This record gives sequence, C-alpha cells and structure tokens, in this order.
Amino acid sequence: MINPVPRVRFAPSPTGYLHVGGLRTALYNYLFAKNNNGKFILRIEDTDRNRYVEGAVENLIKTLKWVGLNYDEGPDNGGEYGPYYQSQRLDIYKAHAKILLEQGNAYRCFCTPERLTLLREEQQKVKLQGKYDKHCLHLTHEEVEQKLSEKILFVVRLNVPSEKIISFDDVIREHVEFASETVDDQVLIKSDGYPTYHLANVVDDHLMKITHVIRGEEWLSSTPKHVLLYDYFGWVRPVFAHLPLLLNADKSKLSKRQGDVAVEDYRDKGFLKEALINFVALLGWNAGDDREYYKLNELEKYFSLDRVNKSGAVFNVEKLSWLNFEHLRQKPVEEVLVLLKDELNKSKFSGKTYKDEYLIQVIASMRERVSFVKEYIEKSPYFFEEPDEYDPDVVKKRWKEDSPILLKTLAGSFSLLNENASKEEFEQALHKTAEESNSAVGKLIHPLRLAVSGMGVGPGVYDLLVILGRDEVIRRINTAIEKINI
Ligand code: GLU
Repeated sequence: MINPVPRVRFAPSPTGYLHVGGLRTALYNYLFAKNNNGKFILRIEDTDRNRYVEGAVENLIKTLKWVGLNYDEGPDNGGEYGPYYQSQRLDIYKAHAKILLEQGNAYRCFCTPERLTLLREEQQKVKLQGKYDKHCLHLTHEEVEQKLSEKILFVVRLNVPSEKIISFDDVIREHVEFASETVDDQVLIKSDGYPTYHLANVVDDHLMKITHVIRGEEWLSSTPKHVLLYDYFGWVRPVFAHLPLLLNADKSKLSKRQGDVAVEDYRDKGFLKEALINFVALLGWNAGDDREYYKLNELEKYFSLDRVNKSGAVFNVEKLSWLNFEHLRQKPVEEVLVLLKDELNKSKFSGKTYKDEYLIQVIASMRERVSFVKEYIEKSPYFFEEPDEYDPDVVKKRWKEDSPILLKTLAGSFSLLNENASKEEFEQALHKTAEESNSAVGKLIHPLRLAVSGMGVGPGVYDLLVILGRDEVIRRINTAIEKINI
C-alpha cells in the first residue's frame, strides 16, 4: 500500500490563551507535517460548554498566526474535512455513539449524580481507584426502554472489557500497556447530548484522515480508551506520539505559579516569535548535537519524531532570553527597524519622528548590547532625546573640576568640523585638543560621554558622536557644562 500523505492536527480546547505547552504541541505537529510533505490541520475542540470563553478561538488563531504556524486546513480557511469546530459536528458524534450502542460496545447509564458520588466515596474509603461499576450495563432492554420513556436523563458510556491488556505503540513511549481494570467506562455522550473529548477526538481524527496523533503526555492515559474506540469501529489506528511533560526548573510540572505560561505573555514582554519557536522546539527535541540556534525553516528541515525525548523537558527562561538576544542580533536590520518604530510608538517618545537612516545607525551601534527591542530605548534613551539628567555615580567619578573648560575647548574644535564629520575626524579633533591642553585623552572622553548621553556606558564614544552629529554634540556639551554642578 502506498503511504498516505501524513496528516496531523493541533486540537486545542479554547481556554482563553495559548499555553506554551500547546505551542510546543502545535509546533511539533507543524514541523512533522513540513518535514514529511504532509498537512497540518487546526481543529477547535469546543464541546465543553462549561469551559466556553468568549474570544478564545480568535485569540488562539491570532497567536498561531503571530508565531507563523500556518495551517493547511482550519476553522477560518476551511478544507475538505470541515467543519473544523467540533461544536458544529454534533450530529456526527451522535450517529457514532448510536453505532457503538447497537454493537453493545457502549451503553446508556441512568445513574444519578448522587449515586455516582456515593460510589466514589465508598471506593475512596477502601482506597480503590474511582471507577464506574457498570451498574447500568446490566439493565435489561425493557428497563432501558422504560427509563427512556420516563425521560430519565442518561449518559452514554464506553464498555471497557474486563481482564484484558489494552496495548498500543507510541513513537516516543514505545510499547504501552494498560490493564483494562484501570480504565474507566468513560462517558462518551453527556446528558446534554454533547460528546466528551474522547469520542469527538477519535471520530474526528478518523474522519479527518489524521495519520499521526502528536500530543502531550497528559493524554497518554486516555489513549487506551481511544484505541478501544478505533477497534470497536473497525478503524485503522493512527500512529501515536506522546510528547514529554514540561517541567519547572525544580522538576515540578510547569505551572502558572512559577512563571508565565501564556504565549501572549512572552510576546507582550518583548520576546521575538523566532526566539520563542526556537526555544519551544528544544523542549524535548534535539538534532543529536549541541546546536541550539535554529530558524523555523531549519527546524522544518531537521525535525524528526525519532529524536524526541521521553524524559520531561525543563523550561529554562534564561535560555529563552539568550535565544532572544541571538535572534535579535541576527535579524535583518530592516526588520529590527519596524520593531523599533513600533516600540517607539508605545514609549514616551511616541510623538517624535526619527529618520530611518538615523534609526538604522542606532540599531547598528547597539546591536551587540540588547536582548530585547525595547532595550534600544531603555539602554540608550539619549538617541531619542537629549539627557535630562546625568548619572550621579558617573558624575562623581568622571566629572572633574577642569572638565567644563576641557569640554568647552573640545566643543570649539568640534565646531571646525563638518556637520557630518566621520569617526576619525572626531577622534583626531579630540586627540589634538587633549594634546594642546596637556591633558590625558581619558579626561576628555569620559566627561564627553557623560555630557552627550548622561551615562557612563554605551556604544563607542565616536560612534555616538557620528550618530548624533556635530551640532547636537556641541549643544549637549554646552547644556552639560551648564547643568552639571559639583
Ligand atoms: N482538546 C485536547 C486539548 O485540549 C486535544 C488533545 C489531543 O490532541 O488529543 O489538548
């Protein structure tokens, strides 16, 4: 048989935001599809009405688009196997539940919530796993008909066989076995007529011709129920791949309490999509070497499920920051320019305009010093406005009694240069002034940096002068002489 085109899906339940674990699942599915010339599908699993959150789907789609994980089929771009919202497929699930009921592989359960609670409490007392006791499986046909005619609410449950080993193969976990005694008679259709995740997920994966189910390890214990469903329907099982858990640095399960878990939070903090994607790709996968820096198109080329680890992946935010630095450093300057303009618009400099050529020079001078776009503004505000204060520690250390007079002389020599004087010209002028004033070069350089930037650190001082331009430099020197009193 010719292998079908691989088809994989990301099937989130919209909860309001995209969790970083969800992003990892989406990314691995996407990469697998790209690497195998397959199709990547987005399916919205929204049958749990209690968890419905207004705007959650739109937000999810927006976030996926922001990171660049484009899907071939999905709720907003359609496809051959739609609709891609489970809430629009209810009749399909009902029809499938009916098949299972007719086969005897599912049964109606009329137990009241009170009886189920009591049952659970009794099981807890003797330390038994909470499980339905198949009470309603033993109702006669007449009893069932009677209850139906009385309109007693019921759910449809999966009939899990007794004393069987339910096994399946998983690309990452290898051969997995569950004793059927540990598997509950899962509710498939709830009393409100909505399917549970388990039924809807399996039916859709089959109907949407999903070949590989790639998802988080938290779903591993649901898989025996799913493989039973595949077998009951007589369907070919997909290949399963359960991805390792995401852990905090202390090896506990990644939680909101220990840091941000929403992709949006990282975006809002200024992380680049390239860095996030790179970081998330490494949460459980490596190419077999020490390489850590990847662009999305490289990941598409190198990713393979065979190299996904079994053991939990530690979420290390420092690595993410380092990757952000690297991706920002290697980003084409025109792209950084767009991001910097956005950032300026959000900052206190929003009303001001700067020429592109000017901003490009700023970017070039600060590139090696910033990990985030906003740091261009935070670390070097003097490029966007003249300093309104001077770092007192630097003043104390660098501003000497003779600094005003030396800087005044220096401003005099700078005034003889062109407005667009080069680095070398500024440097020569400074050296000449130092010589003529019988002064060490440092006695000019340090106060000069302080005068033009208000700070003691930054890019090379001559780069600073060239970017600001002769007139602005002279103006700032004069202001500093006036303002700095020691
Ligand atoms: N709707 C499930 C979730 O929210 C999908 C799990 C799966 O991929 O099967 O993650």
